[in-house]
Amino acid sequence: MSFEGKLFERKINEECGLFGIWGHAESSRLTYYGLHSLQHRGQDGAGIVAKIGDELIRSRGKGLLTEALTKDMLADMKGTTSAIGHVLYSTRETKSSAAIQPLLFHFEKSSLAICHNGALVNATSLRSKLEEYGSIFQTVCVSEILAHIIKRSRLVTFLDSVKRALSQVHGGFAFLLMTQSGMYAARDSRGLRPLVIGKLGDSFVVASETCALDTVGAKYVRDVAPGEIVTINDDGLKSDFFTSDRSLHVCGMEYIYIARPDSDIEGVNVHTSRKNAGRILARESPTEADVVIGSPDTGISAAIGYAEAMGIPYELGLIRNRYVGRTFIAPEQSLREMGVKMKLSAVHSIVEGKSVVLVEDSIVRGTTVRHIIKLLRDAGAREVHMKIASPLYKYPCYYGIDTPSPRELIAHKRSAKAITKEIGADSLEFISEEGLVEAVGRDLCLACYNGDYPTHLQDFAGIEER
Ligand code: AMP
Ligand code: SF4
Repeated sequence: MSFEGKLFERKINEECGLFGIWGHAESSRLTYYGLHSLQHRGQDGAGIVAKIGDELIRSRGKGLLTEALTKDMLADMKGTTSAIGHVLYSTRETKSSAAIQPLLFHFEKSSLAICHNGALVNATSLRSKLEEYGSIFQTVCVSEILAHIIKRSRLVTFLDSVKRALSQVHGGFAFLLMTQSGMYAARDSRGLRPLVIGKLGDSFVVASETCALDTVGAKYVRDVAPGEIVTINDDGLKSDFFTSDRSLHVCGMEYIYIARPDSDIEGVNVHTSRKNAGRILARESPTEADVVIGSPDTGISAAIGYAEAMGIPYELGLIRNRYVGRTFIAPEQSLREMGVKMKLSAVHSIVEGKSVVLVEDSIVRGTTVRHIIKLLRDAGAREVHMKIASPLYKYPCYYGIDTPSPRELIAHKRSAKAITKEIGADSLEFISEEGLVEAVGRDLCLACYNGDYPTHLQDFAGIEER
């Protein structure tokens, strides 16, 4: 994750991370380790549901994984054979402990654990329909909506009920479900949110990102396809589709900012795609300077690419204090600046008297770059030229990335010239949309940059502010 000061401003919703493993004696511990490497996707809560004999048991808590799941909780999960887990990035709506996933439902003859990341474009209408039919909700969690639809479906097989339920939910999501007899992993029909399958010995593993497979020593098998539901049980792995309307539009923001650089999404390494974006930025907007600096951490890969392509030295001009914990993240405006200073420092000897190209992954409200440019100027930088490895962020996301309201976006009703002045840069350039697609080499969703949403927006149709 890029430097934690961004968390002041960030309202990322339910990016979250998923991990599951079927048929392994160390399943709960491996799930814990897998979740640990997905911590960048959510720091507000964590939970594991494990299968012990014929029972599903759950441990969950608030905060970072190490705070949420204690040693004792893990000890209670000895003897598990399968497990699924979740790290939560909460919003105001999902702040309550009841919303910490996986959710666990007990029926007369079975139990169902379910967790997800992403968001639905028809959550509100589904929920009101379900309430009309008598469903009572404990949370605002999308997983609870899916559980209710599954339960109402009453088809002959559980898989058919899940498929029918998935065909009714629309948006950007990955779901992971577990019953006593199997684990199910599903990805939305556009492949917006990432989800991969791995293998550890004879056991199948599912995770939001490949970095979690690497951590537990699992071998990458493949990405779950858009619109696919994978069933994993003692007989192995079986694939089905819950819709015929399928296409691949991976969330561009996953490559730009969200995913870990060591992860591969749809076969493309995240660091490499960022570095390519830096090279393409250099082609599209070359600026001669003394040094190139990357904004820690997510701007660094693109900065390396920019520096290489321009033949300008890449330098560590900004240092992140990795020991500043979350306790320093205060929402008060008055403390924000100090917070940023505690988290980031400019290296005077690198920037003093220099013309600097500063590469950042994205600008949303402009808060982060404004502070960084000030840090560099205070440290004596002569010129600061900003290069952004994504296009200008203009439209809201309806697929799980909770963006500020359009009015809060720096691009709202401001020209490029006005933004440059607002952030205090000498110049400001963004990669083009085509450049970003070239950098990744896959079909992407870029709706928050161009307003071109890859699905019908249902509950939100007509209300997006452009
Ligand atoms: P801002 O300070 O509001 O301009 O936020 C932009 C910074 O936060 C960038 O440096 C990114 O690293 C990070 N970021 C990227 N995408 C998002 C997002 N969707 N919401 C919030 N922050 C983001
Ligand atoms: Fe990702 Fe933006 Fe598309 Fe949302 S709108 S899925 S953040 S690219």
